[in-house]
Amino acid sequence: MRITLSGNLSYCFGVRKTLTLVEDLLARNPDRTYYMYGEIVHNELVIRDLRGKGLSIIRDLSQIGPTGSVIIPSHGAPLRVFEDLRARGVDIIDATCPMVRLIHEKARRLEAEGADVVIIGDPLHDEVRGIAGHVGRALVFRHPADVDAAALAGIRRAGVVVQSTFIREEALAILDAIRAVVPEVVFEDTICRPTSERQEEVRRMAARHDCVLIVGSRRSANTRHLFDLACGENACVHFVDDPEQVNGLPIRPDASVFVASGASTPMSAVERVVELLERRKDPEGEKHG
Ligand code: SF4
Repeated sequence: MRITLSGNLSYCFGVRKTLTLVEDLLARNPDRTYYMYGEIVHNELVIRDLRGKGLSIIRDLSQIGPTGSVIIPSHGAPLRVFEDLRARGVDIIDATCPMVRLIHEKARRLEAEGADVVIIGDPLHDEVRGIAGHVGRALVFRHPADVDAAALAGIRRAGVVVQSTFIREEALAILDAIRAVVPEVVFEDTICRPTSERQEEVRRMAARHDCVLIVGSRRSANTRHLFDLACGENACVHFVDDPEQVNGLPIRPDASVFVASGASTPMSAVERVVELLERRKDPEGEKHG
């Protein structure tokens, strides 16, 4: 078995920055209560670890105690959340990723210039809710078939932004569907660079290997997108949400295997996957070691 590791393993810089900040706060101020507005990343291992270190994850702002601080995660939050927290006099630590902040700014600028804001993304994802919550009104489309001519009727100028982790080809297909209905469309490609690099690499490497492992949580949008892209290039793609699954995967002993991960996957999960693959190469290795 030949194992090739992705050059973009584990956290993207936005997630890493937020996690470092949170871990540092929890370690330095053990007596203070820290709340996270929503999940910091959509990965159960990371959430369990941070909960164990004392982080409270909340959605309902009324759960905040009088002395706590609220951390806004890397995927951001709607403006009304900031307003509500300020009105309550709560200490806010804004860890919104700079790339997500840029999407908020672009959406607000498009709206200020008279465009109707359209977001290409998952309407249920926190990042998309956050973007929508930075403008007065936004339409959200996840698939080309969702583009509703009735909802777009009367819109002369649409300002389109994209969820940072969306698949570019799918975004462009939705954009085409919008362009078929709206006379003027201003498009801001806001898929972030780390996402683009991961997606391009997975597509390229999936075509060159016998088998692909995507390590991460099924709840993570960017990880699912990597899986979908790999499936488009390779018939042997496995989603590894628990590293221990590696032992049961149908991988030929002589296969070339490409290992990639989502931007919310801890390095420890990737390392365990590699360790188990190495053992499959040399089943006696454990005993020898
Ligand atoms: S995926 Fe992109 S936008 Fe999201 S946190 Fe990472 S770098 Fe920031």
